Amino acid sequence: MARRGLLVVFAGASGVGKGTIMKQVLPQDERFRLSVSATTRLPREGEVDGREYYFITRERYDQMVRDGMFLEHAEYCGNGYGTPKAPVMEMLDRGLDVFLEIELNGFLQVKEAYPELLSIFVVPPSMDELRARLIGRGTETDESIESRLCTAMYEISQKDLFDHIIINDDVDRAAGEVLAIIRNKREENLS
Ligand code: 5GP
Repeated sequence: MARRGLLVVFAGASGVGKGTIMKQVLPQDERFRLSVSATTRLPREGEVDGREYYFITRERYDQMVRDGMFLEHAEYCGNGYGTPKAPVMEMLDRGLDVFLEIELNGFLQVKEAYPELLSIFVVPPSMDELRARLIGRGTETDESIESRLCTAMYEISQKDLFDHIIINDDVDRAAGEVLAIIRNKREENLS
């Protein structure tokens, strides 16, 4: 029977650099895919609908929740985020490894439904560094930065729920670590 793909949750505080690490990891293997989430938050400059996110209205989001179209969904700093279920299932069936870049509550929901998933949590070298990155990104208001830092502190306190914790002190090293974790898991599944 064809191999089913790996489901990988890639989590970590907002601003920790998950997106940058993913940009390095995804081209390394033709079987890797990143799930595109839906969100009610407004696009940031440079974000494209259907690429970073599907930007949807609160009404549409609530309807998708009611219709059971999300694999998981959660509120984060005042906005709704959800992983559309059908594309993820279809990719896994095709043997592709699917990364979900999601926050803690979403991870807990997926973990309950798919205990076999692989989970990785990225931590910043320090909270000062995280604050500096959020400010440096220039995409958030002061209020949003404070709210994200507060959520980050809680998420980091829960990091032991994940299979692997990696420190993003160097993007190349962190990306290498993600690749090694996935290769090990594939080998484990084969044996
Ligand atoms: P941002 O607004 O910075 O793009 O994302 C805020 C947080 O929501 C990040 O931690 C991001 O990983 C998470 N997130 C993005 N998409 C989803 C999703 O589909 N579900 C959940 N639960 N969290 C998501």
